[in-house]
Amino acid sequence: MAGGLVSVARRFTDLGVRVISSRLVSGGARAVGLAARSAVGSKGVRASVPIFLSRKEDVCLGERRGAYSQKRFQSTAREAPDFAFAFDIDGVLLHESRPIPGASDVLRFLEEQHVPFILLTNGGGKREEDRVSDLSEKLGVPLTTDNFVQSHTPFRQLVDGPDGLRDKTVLVTGSDYGKCRDIAKSYGFNNIITPSDILAAQPNIFPFRHIPSLHPNPQPLPRLPYTGDTSTALSSSLKVDAMFVFDDPRDWAVDTQIIMDLLLSRSGYIGTYSALNNDSSLPNCGWQQDSQPTLYFSNGDMLWAAHYHLPRFGQGAFQAALAGVWRRYTGGHELRRTVIGKPERETYAFAERVLNAYRHERLREIGGHGANGLMAVYMVGDNPDSDIAGANGFRSETGTEWLSILVRTGVWSDKRQGMGMLEGVKKPTTIVKDVREAVEWACGRHGVEWK
Ligand SMILES: [Mg+2]
Repeated sequence: MAGGLVSVARRFTDLGVRVISSRLVSGGARAVGLAARSAVGSKGVRASVPIFLSRKEDVCLGERRGAYSQKRFQSTAREAPDFAFAFDIDGVLLHESRPIPGASDVLRFLEEQHVPFILLTNGGGKREEDRVSDLSEKLGVPLTTDNFVQSHTPFRQLVDGPDGLRDKTVLVTGSDYGKCRDIAKSYGFNNIITPSDILAAQPNIFPFRHIPSLHPNPQPLPRLPYTGDTSTALSSSLKVDAMFVFDDPRDWAVDTQIIMDLLLSRSGYIGTYSALNNDSSLPNCGWQQDSQPTLYFSNGDMLWAAHYHLPRFGQGAFQAALAGVWRRYTGGHELRRTVIGKPERETYAFAERVLNAYRHERLREIGGHGANGLMAVYMVGDNPDSDIAGANGFRSETGTEWLSILVRTGVWSDKRQGMGMLEGVKKPTTIVKDVREAVEWACGRHGVEWK
């Protein structure tokens, strides 16, 4: 495999993100203690109440609870809670943009009890600070970007480091090219282009009438695309170093053409065609062997619940379509790409680092003891395929146990899908009515009384 693809992909795996491609994944993910960073945003208002106190009367509640209780009673009274929550948003805290009853109450309760939590969603398409501001208003609870992870948040890890992309040229796409550009800029990427920019500079790249409303504000490219004119030095032409799908693309046709062009290019120079493609003497028959830009997807969700009465296609459908075009074009070869988001383990590893950093910061603010590690994280979700499967399949490198709580307020119901689908990795630790019951159940296992 050529150096560029190897180095970028390996760097992402080093940062804790698994590469989906079967060949790339063989390198293994090596999570490192990367300090979680958050976008600039206003801190939520902190409740000034006494630090969490353990209750002695909750000692004898089963084997696992007994283990939690034993640790608790070895601790000092002012030691921090050793458990935390990760909440999905849609179907858990919100339903069609309206708060689910009890959602605001449980977040306030956890704040008061200094039990840390994060919001962990496969949603995206907005800057973290904008989404958090919107959520704070809808839920009536001050929230902060420090404990918020949406599907593309882990992309910020790729900005810095030995092979950082900060000053490289990255192509971004999604539901709104301008918003994708803004998000990427907020992460620290300095040279961002979109398919709109390429289309405006080289209209012949897509020889059909495109939809102008999807391309409202193209920006000048840093360099012009290669046109095939051999008198032009290739090194002075536009070169793309990585491609990011931030959320659900709208112009599949234009995006597919331009992403395919780059996957087939010589070293990411759009307008070129690699001489290594379809060379049977090379690994993978030469496909994606010429330092083409790595392709990243922020989540793999095929379907999502919208206002329509049947599920709608999401980013995963675009990914499947693109992979299908690639397979057809290459005679059956798999498209090598990196996918993050729930249920991918790397998103849970990233979420745990964010949670630990948030917990550490909260403890520092309130003067609590933080020597004890995080013993348990409760993932509260409505989707067995993503929330539950991801939590059940994740093995923390720090020994934190992840448990899964399935609520009945979202996409899953025993009437629609039945209990039969809750098998293997999709089987939750417990099923409850709603988020309030989830928090009550989990807190009770740690001797914290809901009221
Ligand atoms: Mg959900």
